[in-house]
Amino acid sequence: MYLPLKIKEILTIFDNANLQAFIVGGAVRDTLLKMKPEDYDIATAASPKQVMELFKGYRFVLSGIKHGTVGIIYQGIYVEVTTFRKEEEYFDHRHPQKVTFVDDLKTDLSRRDFTINALAYNEEIYDFFNGIDDLNKKIIRAVGNPKIRFEEDGLRVLRALRFSSVLNFDIERETKKAIFAQKNMILYSSKERIRIEFDKLLLGSGISRIIEEYLEVIEVFIPSIKSFINNKEEVFKIAKAIEKIEPDICTRLAMLCFYPYHFANGILNYDISNIDLIRLELSDLKYSKKNVDLISNILFLTAINPEINDYETRKLLKCYNKNVILKAVKIRELYEDAVYSMLEERIIKNSIKCNRLDQIAINGNDLLMLGYDNSSDLKKTLEFLLDEIISDKIANKRKDLINRAQEILEKKTGE
Ligand code: ATP
Ligand code: MG
Repeated sequence: MYLPLKIKEILTIFDNANLQAFIVGGAVRDTLLKMKPEDYDIATAASPKQVMELFKGYRFVLSGIKHGTVGIIYQGIYVEVTTFRKEEEYFDHRHPQKVTFVDDLKTDLSRRDFTINALAYNEEIYDFFNGIDDLNKKIIRAVGNPKIRFEEDGLRVLRALRFSSVLNFDIERETKKAIFAQKNMILYSSKERIRIEFDKLLLGSGISRIIEEYLEVIEVFIPSIKSFINNKEEVFKIAKAIEKIEPDICTRLAMLCFYPYHFANGILNYDISNIDLIRLELSDLKYSKKNVDLISNILFLTAINPEINDYETRKLLKCYNKNVILKAVKIRELYEDAVYSMLEERIIKNSIKCNRLDQIAINGNDLLMLGYDNSSDLKKTLEFLLDEIISDKIANKRKDLINRAQEILEKKTGE
């Protein structure tokens, strides 16, 4: 199995000290799938203290030390080394009550979530749970009894969907049954970790299949989805559309919330929005205010009238970024299976014009020089000039604007 040179060196350091160490988890899985691993995790028989002695002189990250994890910055790369462990008695479906260090690779691997994540490598592959078989068959299967494993840690339910989406693997029958039976266990996990897994799920190439088959699991942490979950036709529509949207978390989330946002009395109605609840649910999942605002804006803009003229388009461009409007148009196109190329061209064409206060060819200082004196007057005048620019009554030219501002002032003082 291919390993980067520095990772090989780390394993050799352990081997030379006669301490067992293995590459485990995602790195083995991804390498076997010919994908580039995000990071390398090492499991070892050595205690954290022994690990730190072995790598004396290197910088450590010790935030996970209580779980037996020593992060090492080894010649510019970061690896996490975790002492073999066995977790016993979960007390809140989330945290193991006690962690005992065991010098046994198999026990360490048996606590891992899925067979494809329970592989280890050092010179040869260690596969106690038929992970390679499942990798070849493209199957996500829990290690051990899925119902129990999901009850121990509810995040695993969502991780199953995440791996299924990202790797485009099917979920084995018993594991799938347990996902539905234990879906509510997800809520015992921290919102932050739910969001991290969900983000990866949203960007996966298997997103459509997950939406189609497992929407009721997502509803556990985004209850707004309830409004269309039993409407097979709608679910199918959104599922098909979402994979065609660029792999961007906010746009995909807006697509997912499109129906709940416009839904009222069983029909889709562009005039009615249910934004407050959606905002609350997304904020609860710890999406940043910036992202919640962006998703709200995209949703708001999906109500756009495809027939708007240049003036109305520029009014929108005064408040919203061109790309945000285009994302909303894309959602509408995918949802309605329509193409609004005229609208898109109109947005792009008008986006290079002056649509915002900070793009006007004069500023407050120019107005002060003309004799304007109070700040609310300055703002009001600039707003007025902008509206004239947007409605093509005047060009965004310094000379023209100064003349016009002078005219306005004269008219005002003459009154
Ligand atoms: P990624 O490529 O996204 O990093 P990964 O498989 O490495 O995927 P991590 O979350 O980094 O996933 O976890 C590393 C390994 O730890 C997993 O491969 C798995 O063996 C184990 N693991 C992680 N989370 C859990 C969990 N909730 N329950 C059981 N084992 C887990
Ligand atoms: Mg990882």
